[in-house]
This record gives sequence, structure tokens and C-alpha cells, in this order.
Amino acid sequence: MSDSEIRGRETVVIIGSGPAAWTAALYAARALMEPFVFEGAGSRTMIPGGQLMFTTEVENYPGFKDGVMGPDLMMEMREQALGFGTRSIWEDVVDIDSGRYPFRLLSNTGTQVLADSLILATGANAKWLGLKNEERLAQSGGGVSACAVCDGALPHFRGNVLAVVGGGDSAMEDSLYLTKFAEQVVIIHRRDEFRASKIMSERALTHDKIRVEWNKVVTEVLGDETITALRLEDTVSGEVSELEVGGMFVAIGHTPNAGFLNGVVELKDNGYVETPMPWRTETSVPGIFAAGDVMDDYFRQAVTAAGTGCMAALEAERWLAHRGAAGNEHSEELVVRD
Ligand code: NAP
Repeated sequence: MSDSEIRGRETVVIIGSGPAAWTAALYAARALMEPFVFEGAGSRTMIPGGQLMFTTEVENYPGFKDGVMGPDLMMEMREQALGFGTRSIWEDVVDIDSGRYPFRLLSNTGTQVLADSLILATGANAKWLGLKNEERLAQSGGGVSACAVCDGALPHFRGNVLAVVGGGDSAMEDSLYLTKFAEQVVIIHRRDEFRASKIMSERALTHDKIRVEWNKVVTEVLGDETITALRLEDTVSGEVSELEVGGMFVAIGHTPNAGFLNGVVELKDNGYVETPMPWRTETSVPGIFAAGDVMDDYFRQAVTAAGTGCMAALEAERWLAHRGAAGNEHSEELVVRD
């Protein structure tokens, strides 16, 4: 990359377009930092706006007593941030040089930007089983979801038999949560023992509304407008069966969108961005901050993502002010880190 190809130097660059990214942009814009957002280029499985773009009604985002549609909420957040002077482009950042300052970013179309500070807010994607009807019904609000806390309380799940796929803590937690609304919860797990912690497994196994289909995988999701049943296959005997359900919650883990950050900042063993200090969003590289699901493997809620987006913007602002006070602000000098 040569400096002559660089589009410009920005005070703060934000990568992402979910609640964390737009909240960071809103705070940075109101602090007159004129944030520049890489919203993402979009693909079949990932569209700018993050995971809420795949959700129907959101009932647990404060401030909307009658709920709000996920895509509408994201549109509002985007427009609010743009209204205060945020600029954005629909491109993916594919490479970051964090070994020099200002940081240098390269997009999928070749755009290069220098950044005095950087906020990583690329989110995470729920893992899916990869079945055709699963994806269609998840997108149409037809009773398939990867977020029990987000969708479980919706009217069409109430009083139904609900399936939860997975055997980890998320599957246990989701199942227990869903017992509030479901007539029965059926956990479908591909092995004969759970991966989940003892305490969570015990809670699920002793709950009178929960039963388990051991050694089963879902091979087909049945239903036209809404889900009606699952086709299951026994992983030991190969036997095929059908289970009538009114909903399916996939809880087989998440993948943080952090692949492009390998070698840029430190990642945890599970692939999420490391933020070493409690209650801080700064990464292992000073001046680079992370917010939302790309760094949060625990809460993963829209409102917590927004909260950490706010924190990242405030930290970036303070970090830049501190650099300025130290006489470093807007130095064109390139600093190569160890
Ligand atoms: P996880 O621990 O990776 O468990 C994923 C589960 O899904 C496993 O049981 C796995 O089966 C199953 N699975 C994966 N791919 C599958 C596929 N294609 N088809 C069918 N089943 C599949 O993920 P998680 O439950 O989301 O938990 C992630 C981390 O967050 C863990 O460290 C967990 O302890 C933590 N967490 C903690 C809490 C809590 O403490 N309250 C709540 C939620 C999550 P196998 O077991 O056969 O591999």
C-alpha cells in the first residue's frame, strides 16, 4: 500500500453496522469527531445492520413499549448517527495494519483509510444447522430462531411444543427460558451427554417441562408458512422420525466476525476480541477499541452491544485527548510497533 492511494485520515473509524457500531458513531459524532463507518458490503448470510436484520419483533429493547421490528430499529439507529454527521460506506474492511500509527485500513474494493482511533464492532453470527427451510423460516418469522431471549416471548411460540437444538450452556439456558411460554421444550442433541456445565444440565434435566431427544440430528425443517415439524435422524441407529413442533431454536454457538482481526489485535481462545481491562473496551493495541458481540461472548444482547458501543466511543475520545495533551495529536509520523 502506498500513501498516495489513501482516501483520507479519520479521527475515528468504526467497523460494523449493528447496535454497537451505530451507538459508537452517535456518541463520536456528537463529540464532533466526525466518525467514518465501514458498514459492510453485505452477502447472502450477512447484511449491514447486524443480527437484528434477521429478527422480526424485538420486545426487549428499552423505549419501545409495543416492541419494534429488528430492521426498523437498525434503520433508526443508523439515521440517528448519520443525522449528527457520521459518514459511512458499504464496504468490508479486509486488512488492518495496526503495527503503525495512524492505523491503516484496506477495504474489499481497495479503499484505504488512515485512522487515529478505531472501533471494532463487527458482531457475531449465530451458527445455523444449514438446512434450506431453516434459513427461509428464520428470515420470514416462521417460527425458527437462533435467539430464545429475543424471540421466545412472541405470541406464536406460546403454549406450543418448542425444540431447542444443541447441548451446550446456551441450549440449557434457552430451554429453561422457553419453559415460561412453551407447553413443552424438547432438547435435540447429537450425542448422549451434554457439553453444558453440570449445574445447567441438571436444571434442564430436572425441569418437568423439558425432555431430551438424545443422539438425534435435525435433517429437515418441515412447514410452509410456519414450522410444523422436524425430521430427526438417530446418530446411532440411523432411524428416522418426525417431531411435531411449533418452533425451533438453534443454540449451537456463535462465531464472532473477527477472522480478519487475526494478528491485528489479540483474540481470545474462542475467537472473540480480547479487551484486557474489566469495564473497558480497549483491545491489546492502544487506540483500538472493541464493542458489541465481536468482544462479548457472554451477554450478546442488542442493548449490551449499544452500551459497549457508547463506552468505546467515550474511550476513543479520551484516548485521543490524552494523546493530544501529550503533544502527539495529528502526528504524521509513522510509528512501527514491536
Ligand atoms: P457450545 O458450548 O460450543 O455448545 C454448542 C453445542 O451445540 C454443543 O453441544 C454441540 O454439540 C452442539 N452443536 C454444534 N454444532 C452442531 C451442529 N451442527 N448440529 C448439532 N449440534 C451442534 O456453545 P454455547 O452453548 O453457545 O456456549 C458458548 C460459551 O458460552 C460456552 O463457554 C458456555 O459455557 C458459555 N455460556 C454460558 C452461559 C451461562 O453460564 N449462563 C450461558 C450460555 C453460554 P457437541 O457437544 O456434540 O459438540
